[in-house]
Amino acid sequence: TDPVDYICSAIRSVPDWPKPGITFRDITPVLQDPRSFRVLVDMFVYRYMRQRLDLVAGVDARGFILGSVLAYELNLGFVPVRKKGKLPFETVAEEYTLEYGNATVEMHTDAVRPGQRVVLIDDLIATGGTMMAAIKLLQRLGANVVEAAAIIDLPELGGSKVVRETGLPLYTVCS
Ligand code: IMP
Repeated sequence: TDPVDYICSAIRSVPDWPKPGITFRDITPVLQDPRSFRVLVDMFVYRYMRQRLDLVAGVDARGFILGSVLAYELNLGFVPVRKKGKLPFETVAEEYTLEYGNATVEMHTDAVRPGQRVVLIDDLIATGGTMMAAIKLLQRLGANVVEAAAIIDLPELGGSKVVRETGLPLYTVCS
């Protein structure tokens, strides 16, 4: 079977979670099955193996899972983009708006050296608020963000369009 179909058909949609009317896309079945986990990681490895990257950045928390395995396989370092208040050292922060209220992502000030080529990984892009905040944070640290990537795109929420309109390449596997 097609690797994309293999991965995307393993994603579980959970209705009315975390609240009524929301359908949550759950990647845990993809990770749980060793074959779909490997197919997923390998797709990303082949995509980025010739890009001369320096770092993989992963978004808290599900972006850490694929991001760290990808970094390991590509022989790159991994840097976390974390939710507010989790990082112990000096940080830079980027605030963004959610449907109700605000959220903040943070990185260590020394996580990236200027000019380093970075790919940014998360599990899912919805409104794009999280991905855009993470991109801005990386760029403020001087990173050359080569591409942003997510396993899942929810195109009806508009986030992938917002990211692509900035001119940054965005790669997603399932939509
Ligand atoms: P956005 O900021 O609106 O694009 O939302 C994307 C962020 O929220 C990502 O960090 C996702 O991990 C999380 N998220 C939103 N909806 C879902 C979902 O249905 N499944 C998994 N994660 C989600």
